Amino acid sequence: MLDDRFLHRFRARLREMADNPYTYPETCRRVYVEAVDHSTLNARASESSGKGLIRIHRGCWVNLERFFSTVLSHRKILRTIGGPRAESRWRADLSHIDWIGGPHTVPQREPRDPERQRTVAVLVTLAMDFIFLHELGHIAGGHTRYFVERHGIGELSEDDVLDPNVVDDRHLAEVDADAIAVHLSGYMWHDVMGPSRPLQYDQLREVAFLWAFAVGCLFFLFSQPAMESSAHVVGTHPHPAVRLVRLMHEAISATQHFDIPLFWVQVEKAWSHAVDEIQNAKSVLRFASSIDDVFDNDRSGVYDTAARLKHGLRSFRARCARYAERRPEIEG
Ligand SMILES: [Zn+2]
Repeated sequence: MLDDRFLHRFRARLREMADNPYTYPETCRRVYVEAVDHSTLNARASESSGKGLIRIHRGCWVNLERFFSTVLSHRKILRTIGGPRAESRWRADLSHIDWIGGPHTVPQREPRDPERQRTVAVLVTLAMDFIFLHELGHIAGGHTRYFVERHGIGELSEDDVLDPNVVDDRHLAEVDADAIAVHLSGYMWHDVMGPSRPLQYDQLREVAFLWAFAVGCLFFLFSQPAMESSAHVVGTHPHPAVRLVRLMHEAISATQHFDIPLFWVQVEKAWSHAVDEIQNAKSVLRFASSIDDVFDNDRSGVYDTAARLKHGLRSFRARCARYAERRPEIEG
């Protein structure tokens, strides 16, 4: 099946990362990844007998492909990419569409410009990588073992039913998995522009922007009203806006640990550029998301919550340390 390219990609990366002291090698050696035939955008991590298992719903790549194809097919969105004039200027109100639930709800639109078509593939890959690395983070961070031993929960799924006794730990596990995913993302990039197009130094800035755009869109999708109304999702995970704030912070602090100075200065700009572009896409297509005004106006206490979670991470990591692989020396 063509879509299994993501499984091949992740398995190949696990083999590479198993040889790198900065990419949780012991975890990568004992983790397996497989697809689940389910149409939703979701994934899960579990562990038993020392083996870690990442299960990614096929709906992830189907939904993401539809979403980014739709976005790039509009000439007023991502105007710096390729030749947007080849695209039409269609009108639609996409606020009712559930981009997470399954392909049946999503319209078929594709960009005409070849560069924009290629960009769809890059964005899908970057978003898929993030989902994969987030699940890997649950295992590397010791969360899966910790939740089994401490709370009797055998699998961490991104659409779990909320157990009120574990809310704090669960929220901390989610932002910790995001943090690990941020730190590992760059290790996935070397062929992200295409298998036959090794990444050049001067493309790093572009990839940083596309990464921020892809991951940012993911969190906007997670904050659709359809997701918001399912109380269990809100319960197990911090609000997507809170995760996004933590994630941007992690991305910017992670950059200080790499040896490519000119590039990392650009990361903060890449984020604000990406957020502007997402807001633009959101208003052009009217896709629904509750991450409104969060970056300008913190009426909902997003930054306070993000700061509180950051504060709690130290003790959460200490509690998980017994089960976790030692963290590489790249923490911000
Ligand atoms: Zn998670």
